[in-house]
Amino acid sequence: MVSLKYYLLTILALMVFGVPAISSRFSSQVGEIANVFSNATNQLATVILSHNPKSVADIQADYLSANSTIFSTTSTVTTDSANSTTTNKVRILLVPGHEPNYGGAEYANIKERNMTVELAQNLSDFLGNDSHYQVFVTRDSSDWSPVFVDYFKNDWQSIVDWENVSIRDMAQRISIGSSTKPIQTVSHNRVPNDVATRLYGITKWANENNIDITIHIHFNDDTEHPANQAGKHTGFAIYIPQHQYANGTTSRDIAETVFKRLSKYNPVSDLAGESTGIIEDSDLIAIGANNTADSASMLIEYGYIYESQFNNLDTSSIALKDLAYQTYLGLQDFFDPTDSVATGSVATVRAYDTVALPHSWIRVVSDKNTQNADVFSLQSALLADGEYPPASKNISQCPRTGSFGACTRSALQVFQKKNNITGEKGIVGEKTLEALNRNYGF
Ligand SMILES: [Zn+2]
Repeated sequence: MVSLKYYLLTILALMVFGVPAISSRFSSQVGEIANVFSNATNQLATVILSHNPKSVADIQADYLSANSTIFSTTSTVTTDSANSTTTNKVRILLVPGHEPNYGGAEYANIKERNMTVELAQNLSDFLGNDSHYQVFVTRDSSDWSPVFVDYFKNDWQSIVDWENVSIRDMAQRISIGSSTKPIQTVSHNRVPNDVATRLYGITKWANENNIDITIHIHFNDDTEHPANQAGKHTGFAIYIPQHQYANGTTSRDIAETVFKRLSKYNPVSDLAGESTGIIEDSDLIAIGANNTADSASMLIEYGYIYESQFNNLDTSSIALKDLAYQTYLGLQDFFDPTDSVATGSVATVRAYDTVALPHSWIRVVSDKNTQNADVFSLQSALLADGEYPPASKNISQCPRTGSFGACTRSALQVFQKKNNITGEKGIVGEKTLEALNRNYGF
């Protein structure tokens, strides 16, 4: 269980009925009230499935109508104002993967369920400092946010009923031929029923609270490695709903701009089935299995838990913050690809598309065992400068680890040649420090 790849998964009913999808004509009918089965119990018959998926136009209208001139100085992560819809902003729900003190991958001393909280907090800070967005986060490392504590407590039975009716409705659609079964390319582990119900509950809450975009945050694991030894896969992947689902096309449009930002500095997962980077999925509850989600939804596996940048105290905080930043920039690209709307701090901050730059380098580096934030910034600078990864290597072979290994030394030599630096071949000496600070310092 400890190092198990712990995906969100669907419950038994889905396995029995296969993986449902709805027909493409369903998208023109999504505003209608779905049918409830004649053989449903009285209790279930009271559940009405209504679909009100967010279109690209809906979400972009929220962005454009948000006040874009006043920047708040503090984060607007205020889950207690969940019911406030008086301001038109893009409403984003961040879901750190797994649960407080439960579930997710573990490796050495680190736990996925805490990494996801740290990344979510960083992302909520970036978004919260931009007045276009209103951010909600489902939990921190110790508990669900008060809104979700109450929701799970008071609405549990209605979540279960809605979950069951949604599953049965989709099964019905398949049985009468109005939906087809998509081919699932990546299999996921199952989750316990209560975990599944909380995931359905998060989706139900998002639908009821006019959420525009939901982002589930995860880190991957490769189940075939020994407990304290890194596995062989690296990289990130973005899961989006099957295109037939009501939130499918909007989700893809947003995922593509996020993917573009993430893929500049980070390798795409080399796991079979994930190598396209954006993967359609029909049975991840998180992103709307059984056509349940109205918001544009994605589940991002940001990397593999054993990747060394996550396992070093000095590099993990900057690596997680950078992934959050690139996600934020990806969202910005969706709304404002040419910076025509962004003003002030947002426009300025985009001078670099990584938080690793600008950076002040002060320490000489010659030891290949060095791993720290300086080296992470060095790799970022070399990447921005076009030398990293070195020729004949790709970013999967030479990811930004913050580790001063062969990839970095070899890229550094090219940088030194370009800057006419001699006598410091492949190490960061005084002349190299000067050139780095001149080009990529403050
Ligand atoms: Zn996970």
